[in-house]
Amino acid sequence: MKKQGSWTRWESVKDRSLTWQDIWSMEGHRIKFLLCSTYDVLPTPSNLHTWGMVESPSCTLCGKIANLEHVLSSCHSSLADGKFRWRHDQILAQLAEGVEQARKRTRQLSNGPRFIHFVRAGESAAAGGRNKGVLATANDWEMRADLKKQLKFPEEIAHTTLRPDIVLWSRGTKQVVLIELTVPWEERMEEAYERKLKKYQTLILESQHNGWKAWNLPVEVGCRGFAGRSLWRALGLLGIEGLARKRLVANTTRRAEEASRWIWLQRKVRWQSRPTEGLGT
Ligand SMILES: [Zn+2]
Repeated sequence: MKKQGSWTRWESVKDRSLTWQDIWSMEGHRIKFLLCSTYDVLPTPSNLHTWGMVESPSCTLCGKIANLEHVLSSCHSSLADGKFRWRHDQILAQLAEGVEQARKRTRQLSNGPRFIHFVRAGESAAAGGRNKGVLATANDWEMRADLKKQLKFPEEIAHTTLRPDIVLWSRGTKQVVLIELTVPWEERMEEAYERKLKKYQTLILESQHNGWKAWNLPVEVGCRGFAGRSLWRALGLLGIEGLARKRLVANTTRRAEEASRWIWLQRKVRWQSRPTEGLGT
């Protein structure tokens, strides 16, 4: 019971409210995976062992205890064969597409007058009420995402070998935004956020030193399909709000859920193909 109630302590997770309409429109396998993964009752070797159905709770690939957290977020074998990277990039593609749409909208304003919203030091541009976030403060935003070909950080801002997942920058207003996506186990969102914040801190300082106003935005989408509050906040700060924000969060979380379900099914097949242990359903 302790384990199955652990989702109630997902402090960094944005509430995910499912309406009856959402549930009716979801395919059965999606609901099943969402519920079983959230309550951690999928037939992992660890659970099967607890239920007295198999002798070993270990991962057949690496020997560690194979609970759901291991399967979906920490097995070194899955890390090595690129499954986690693949899932990350699926989600990143959704995120980048949504941010790109918002960026394009600001560029469409380029023929009109440019309004720059000045804020006091330390004040968030998005806190100004009427303005529409950081993206609305310039109309020459460029964007790169670390997809397909490796991202090269714009040298005019700073020299670095780091590759944040998304870089947005405006030459005219000398602003740069770094977005870094992590797909952690939901209980570890806070930890992932702090780690990524730290990872890019030097790059942020260097950019600022070179005269750029810089934002460091680590965001998380949990591997069971729950968005971090960090993602919700970051989109708001950029000025992606309302329906566009809801849609973007739904697209990323759905992709996380689908990719994790696929990783889970691949694993289950491998376990089941072992003659010594029957793994039930
Ligand atoms: Zn393993």
